[in-house]
Amino acid sequence: MAYSYEAPVSQSLFDRASAVTPGGVNSPVRAFQAVGGTPRFMVSGTGPYLTDADGREYVDLVCSWGPMILGHSHPEVIAAVQEAVSRGTSFGTPGEGEVALAEEIVARIEPVEQVRLVSSGTEATMSAIRLARGFTGRAKVVKFAGCYHGHVDALLAAAGSGVATFGLPDTPGVTGATAGDTVVLPYNDLDAVRAAFAAHPGEIACVITEASPGNMGVVPPADGFNAGLKELCAANGALYISDEVMTGFRTSKAGWYGVDGVRPDLMTFGKVMGGGFPAAAFGGRGDVMAHLAPAGPVYQAGTLSGNPVATAAGLAQLRLLDDAAYAKIDAVSAELRSLVGDALTKEGVAHTVSAASNMFSVFFTDRPVRNYDDAKKQDVFRFTAFFHSMLEQGVYLPPSAFESWFVSTAHDERAIERIAAALPAAARAASEATA
Ligand code: PLP
Repeated sequence: MAYSYEAPVSQSLFDRASAVTPGGVNSPVRAFQAVGGTPRFMVSGTGPYLTDADGREYVDLVCSWGPMILGHSHPEVIAAVQEAVSRGTSFGTPGEGEVALAEEIVARIEPVEQVRLVSSGTEATMSAIRLARGFTGRAKVVKFAGCYHGHVDALLAAAGSGVATFGLPDTPGVTGATAGDTVVLPYNDLDAVRAAFAAHPGEIACVITEASPGNMGVVPPADGFNAGLKELCAANGALYISDEVMTGFRTSKAGWYGVDGVRPDLMTFGKVMGGGFPAAAFGGRGDVMAHLAPAGPVYQAGTLSGNPVATAAGLAQLRLLDDAAYAKIDAVSAELRSLVGDALTKEGVAHTVSAASNMFSVFFTDRPVRNYDDAKKQDVFRFTAFFHSMLEQGVYLPPSAFESWFVSTAHDERAIERIAAALPAAARAASEATA
């Protein structure tokens, strides 16, 4: 596919990057491999807009893959960062900022009695499953195909996000011994979970699931699915781990827990809670968390965990996320979903706009999408044409048909009008696309 527009400065940066960095990017989904073309190198962000190195402005519907829920360069977050930075950047000692952030998390999310701060979502899920294994004395972990929990060896089997985008069946470098304790099941299938517990009695340490998956596109849990997982875990002595790295502090004040009320044993967080800096966390039942070093025997640590600048950014962002902020994000999301759906319908493009609270994505199929296999059956080539038309018209979508779109409180009428103006041509491009 040829693109009628160019990005010479991004192209030259990408050439330089490709010489010194594998694939030219520091995280695979940033590359445009799934859609073709040159990834845009961004130089600044303000509110709902990003500006690339060629000086073009885009309405941003990626929001740094979730964290920028207040838009870019929010003045109060920037001020909190500047204030923290003026006092130093890392001490390697406890500090008040990390206590305040932990208190904010515990106050918002009732099942979290204790929380440990880390630096990435990957670290959070890795540590949570180690803790679950240490607590239960069992080895096996159940995960669902299409759910992405970061690049933890044991959790890379049939993962979503970049693993889905690039169609990777498995990842070389993950040994059979590591993956052998991972049981991968189809999402939204409680019978499969029942069968797994029956097949591995007394062996399953935990079931980890995205609270509401956004890494195979947005595929919400069917009614009763999360509650069923919790029940099966409780009945079989396993822990129920809800990965809220993506949904946490986004889908409501208390994340997905605030939506479905199913009480996990452990939870993981990241993205929004870092305000654009590397901060993440895992937490949950006090008796389980008490097994973590130095209180207990399960080791876990981090030089930059609870970093003062990251915790200041995260805390400033969370404190601005009140009921009015969530109402705004929900309203923006609803408006965009209906604009996208209408534009595609008008051009006769088979599609499903799939939403979980204010997270949403578009599947280019009109068949129901309940799991990863369903998601893979969409017409990905139509997404590619849609993506490039939107990009050309100044709207930045995730460069993959298997990712959630994200909005922020900064997406105002002007930004929405720009998206609305771009949609008819993009829908036409999707309709005219050929495989
Ligand atoms: N868990 C979920 C649900 C995610 O969406 C992600 C990242 O997209 C992760 C874990 C990993 O987080 P990180 O990229 O911060 O390591």
